Amino acid sequence: SWFSSDRPYGVITPCRRLVLCAENRKEMEEWIAALKSVQNREHFESTQFSMDHFSGMHNWYACSHARPTYCNVCREALSGVTSHGLSCEVCKFKAHKRCAVRATNNCKWTTLASIGKDILEDEDGISMPHQWLEGNLPVSAKCTVCDKTCGSVLRLQDCRCLWCKAMVHAGCKDQLSPKCPLGQCKVSVIPPTALNSIDSDGFWKATCPPTCTSPLLVFVNSKSGDNQGVKFLRRFKQLLNPAQVFDLMNGGPHLGLRLFQKFDTFRILVCGGDGSVGWVLSEIDALTLHKQCQLGVLPLGTGNDLARVLGWGSACDDDTQLPQILEKLERASTKMLDRWSIMVYETKLPRQHSSSTVQHILTYEDSVAAHLSKILTSDQHSVVISSAKVLCETVKDFVAKVGRAYEKNTENSEESEAMAKKVSCDWLSDESLFCDWLLEGLECSVIG
Ligand SMILES: [Zn+2]
Ligand SMILES: [Zn+2]
Ligand SMILES: [Zn+2]
Ligand SMILES: [Zn+2]
Repeated sequence: SWFSSDRPYGVITPCRRLVLCAENRKEMEEWIAALKSVQNREHFESTQFSMDHFSGMHNWYACSHARPTYCNVCREALSGVTSHGLSCEVCKFKAHKRCAVRATNNCKWTTLASIGKDILEDEDGISMPHQWLEGNLPVSAKCTVCDKTCGSVLRLQDCRCLWCKAMVHAGCKDQLSPKCPLGQCKVSVIPPTALNSIDSDGFWKATCPPTCTSPLLVFVNSKSGDNQGVKFLRRFKQLLNPAQVFDLMNGGPHLGLRLFQKFDTFRILVCGGDGSVGWVLSEIDALTLHKQCQLGVLPLGTGNDLARVLGWGSACDDDTQLPQILEKLERASTKMLDRWSIMVYETKLPRQHSSSTVQHILTYEDSVAAHLSKILTSDQHSVVISSAKVLCETVKDFVAKVGRAYEKNTENSEESEAMAKKVSCDWLSDESLFCDWLLEGLECSVIG
C-alpha cells in the first residue's frame, strides 16, 4: 500500500513503513510495481497463492475528491478543499494517510473465512450477508428500504453494500433481508461463501451455490492499452469477487486456472490483445481444461484480430460499460475454434555434391543422349530398336537408383540430394516430353 504527498512517497507494507523518494509519480509507480512484484513472488513461492487476493488488505491509492469525504477510520473529514487522502481501489474505503496504518484488513470479502462471524446460517445452509461500508455515498443516493435520500456531506453516515450496491439508512438496515442478492452481475460473481476451503493439493473445492450458475474468471493484462488494463482490473474487482480477477502481468494465468480447475464448468474472460488470449489458451491446454471452460475476449490495446473475428470489436476503452459487457457475455453463444501449432524446422542448405556422384549421373545422361540421337538419326530399324531397348533399361536403372537413394536418405543425404536435384532439373522431371522424344524417334525410324 502506498501514498503520495507529492514527494517523498511513503510505502506501507505489512511489516514496515518505508519512505521512498522519486522524481515524479510515473517513476514512483514503477518502483511500487517492482516492490509489489517482489513481495508477491515471495508469497507465491512460499504458499503457492497470491496473498494479494486473500489478505483482506486494502489497495490504497492517493486521490482527491470532488465533494466532502470522510475517513472510515477516525470519521473526520479528509484534509483540504479537495478532500485529499487515500482510497481503496477495490472497496473505496477512505482514510487519512496517518490513519491508513490503523485500518483493519476488512476489504471486500474473497473467501468464507474472510466473512467471519457475519456469515448467515439457516436450514438451507450458509448464505452471504451484505457487506456494508459506511458513508461517502453518491449525491443522489436513495435508501433501498424507504426510498428517501440517504447519505450526508456533513458526516460519515448511512451505508452501501459492496456487492449488491444497495444503499440504506443506518436505521432502515434491519428491515432489509439480511441475504445479499449480489446485484446486477450475480450470474458471474463467485460469492465468497463458495470459496470455503482449499484442498491439500491447492485447489478450491468446487462448491458453487445455485445463484452462481456460470462462474467467471477474469484475466486482465494490466499492461494492455494506455493504462486501461489497470482501470479494468480495478473495475472488475469492484464488480466481482476480487479472488476471481487476476492480473496476467502478476503471475500469469496458471494460478487462477489451477485454483478453479475443480469447478465443473466456468467461463473465462481475457482482457487484452491476441497475445494474452494465446497465453491463457495455452495454459488451458496444458491443464487440459478445454472441456470445462469457455473463453471470451474483451479487446484492450492493439492486436485484437481474434476479438474482431468473434464480433467483440477491435478495442474497448470504456470501463464504465463493464456491467453491460458482463451481461452480454452471459448471453453469448459459443463457437468452436481450431488451434494450430506451427512447427518450424531449421534445415541445412543443400551441399555441393561430390564429384563421384556427379560423374555417376553424367554417365546416365551421356548414355541417354547417345541413344536418343541414334534413335533420331539412324535409318536402320535394328539400331533404333536396340537403342530404344538400351534407353529403356537405362531409364529404369536410373529410376531404381533414385528410389534406393531416397530410401537411404538419412544415411546418405548427399547422394539423394544430388539425385533429386538432377531429377528435378533435368529430363526426367518432364516425363511426357521424354516420351514424346522417344515416340518421335521411333516414328522417324519407322518412316525411314
Ligand atoms: Zn482518519
Ligand atoms: Zn478495500
Ligand atoms: Zn448486498
Ligand atoms: Zn431508509
